[in-house]
Amino acid sequence: MTRVTIVGAGPGSADLITLRGARALASASVVLHDALVDPALRELAPQAEWIDVGKRGFCDSTAQTRINALLVQHARAGGHVVRLKGGDPSVFGRLDEELQALAEAGIACEVVPGVTAAIAAAADLQRPLTRRGTGRSVALSTAMTRAGELVATRGADTEVFYMAGRQLAALARRLAAAGWAPETPVAVVSRAGWSDRHLSDHRVDTLPEAVVLHGGRPTVVIVGVGATALPATASSMADTLALPALPTVSKP
Ligand code: SAH
Repeated sequence: MTRVTIVGAGPGSADLITLRGARALASASVVLHDALVDPALRELAPQAEWIDVGKRGFCDSTAQTRINALLVQHARAGGHVVRLKGGDPSVFGRLDEELQALAEAGIACEVVPGVTAAIAAAADLQRPLTRRGTGRSVALSTAMTRAGELVATRGADTEVFYMAGRQLAALARRLAAAGWAPETPVAVVSRAGWSDRHLSDHRVDTLPEAVVLHGGRPTVVIVGVGATALPATASSMADTLALPALPTVSKP
């Protein structure tokens, strides 16, 4: 019997969880959740004990060890434990460490996928990450290394950087050093999938301006083909985004 279900909650807004994830929550006795998760998700598991295990910072290995221990401890207590993670568990979610801890304890688990931030951002922008003929590859990269160092690469037609929100100026410099031309389109999306998302258009050389719009919010940075507006929608983007309840957009 599955005692632990690791569920991707999607980018935050409760209605972006999968039906399978919602069903897992409905049968949960304990939910160990990240900080990124919408409180409205609690309505899907009102019977469960909700435990916030959200971590602050990038390399808090002590916190991760504690989460692993809590997973094992609650699973051994006999209930159905849901580990609810932001986005998709397989994308910058330290899923490997949790799977390893459960395997070592001999506890069966299932993983339910979720909508990762890059995909939610592409949907908000209405800009596909792949394009027939020009965009054959997409890379999801963290801008931060384990040592807290900022890195940027040019390995795919579209690069999506996670965890760069606080260091957009440094990212711009690293992108230029990695060979991206100064005029390469860059789209920045914060709180993708939420009603208060912000979307903005930049170029590699003007990316530092994005800090004022997105500072302090979960942010992804899309560089290259996937950041390019579609010809037919480019002129109408301002109209689209001016609709009530839709996000602020700035064009440099
Ligand atoms: N597993 C998550 C990523 C966790 S790492 C996923 O699949 O999306 C945390 C980073 O994800 C943040 O620093 C930010 O770069 C990105 N992120 C998470 N939620 C986001 C959102 N709603 N909008 C934009 N970026 C988001």
